Amino acid sequence: MNTKSHDVVIVGAGPTGLALGAELSRLGISSFIMDKQHAGANTSRAAVIHARTLEVLQPLDATTELLSLGVIVPFFRIRDRDRVLATIDFRELKTSYPFTLMCPQNLTEEILLRRLEGLGGTVHRPCEVETIQAFADDVEVRFRDQHGLQTVRAKWLVGCDGMHSIVREQAAIPFKGGAYDEDFVLADVEMDWALGRDEVNLFFSEKGLVVVAPLPKGRFRIVATVNDDAENFQQILDERGPRDRPGRIREIVWTSRFHIQHRVARSLLKGRILLAGDAAHVHSPAGGQGMNTGIQDGVSLATALQRTLSSGDDKALDEWQARRLKVAHDVVTMTDRITKAATTSSSSLKLFRNVVIELIGHIPAAQQALAKTLSEVRYR
Ligand SMILES: Cc1cc2nc3c(=O)[nH]c(=O)nc-3n(C[C@H](O)[C@H](O)[C@H](O)COP(=O)(O)OP(=O)(O)OC[C@H]3O[C@@H](n4cnc5c(N)ncnc54)[C@H](O)[C@@H]3O)c2cc1C
Repeated sequence: MNTKSHDVVIVGAGPTGLALGAELSRLGISSFIMDKQHAGANTSRAAVIHARTLEVLQPLDATTELLSLGVIVPFFRIRDRDRVLATIDFRELKTSYPFTLMCPQNLTEEILLRRLEGLGGTVHRPCEVETIQAFADDVEVRFRDQHGLQTVRAKWLVGCDGMHSIVREQAAIPFKGGAYDEDFVLADVEMDWALGRDEVNLFFSEKGLVVVAPLPKGRFRIVATVNDDAENFQQILDERGPRDRPGRIREIVWTSRFHIQHRVARSLLKGRILLAGDAAHVHSPAGGQGMNTGIQDGVSLATALQRTLSSGDDKALDEWQARRLKVAHDVVTMTDRITKAATTSSSSLKLFRNVVIELIGHIPAAQQALAKTLSEVRYR
């Protein structure tokens, strides 16, 4: 067996691994990227791209293409059925991208892959990592491809292999947190929707929450929490969405259901092993932070790896870990608060929640602080 050596091996070619690999290539560092799937996933999944992600992808030339495919949305509105409680206006953000972009994850991944390949990189697939052995100066990765068991060695191994990360597991890095009681259901639909295509709407209601956001091709994304097997999206819209201008679903294009957890890895760096993206942190989809935080982990890690590889000093990686762990904890805390506030069954808490949100909606500084947090420009 011929064992090749690389500066960096990346396990997982989701948005985090692709962003990291492409940015490393842009910085002149080649990496070996592998993924166990035969091809990239072609489903819609995470659809929100925030301003900070568009900023960090600009040097890679990915942002222009994302903008050409996505839907620009300047407002998040929080409503209790028909009543607007607060509007989060992204137009005042100090960024070249004062909005949220709605774009399905498969398109985002296609663009990142094209940028990676345009810069000379490639994804090796299907290659499934089975074991990892860490040494003082490098890491050995054993994986299975169509020819059998293979081995690569790397100065640095980055686990971008998602929530059930084998890299995290084999590095014995604890992944602390818990799970929510509710399931989330998603649907990409074609529908008649009177509230327009320039806002993401989060509706509170007696029956739970529902989010409606525009997608490319005239479609909409519906997201809701459910406590049972029910998945009737028209009924969810009727019972939770606007009463005076109800949406009418014409066609359901794609649906998914998932149970969510909130967890953060105890460390993102252990010896020569690093973690980024869902391998390092998972949380509620409230606010659409998951993929964004992963892409930003990946792009910032590329610079830290470049510094460490050129200086031989791990300081840049220690700093990266401290910075990104704080972001991960902040994102988990924020999304947890939104999720608990949105799904509370207590009538008094619902009343309190609505009063607080209406108050925030009337204080421009508080509203702008929320826009900075959601868009992640706070983490520059
Ligand atoms: C149905 C669904 C809907 C979602 N909706 C939203 C949403 O609305 N908003 C939001 O913010 N987030 C959402 N998410 C989460 C979002 O998709 C993730 O945050 C994002 O994909 C994380 O990217 P990642 O690259 O870190 O990990 P992933 O996208 O999970 O990629 C990990 C990659 O690692 C590969 N891999 C795993 N194990 C191995 C191994 N042993 N060897 C080799 N390769 C391996 C996998 O094949 C995969 O390609 C959703 C997820 C799902 C599943």
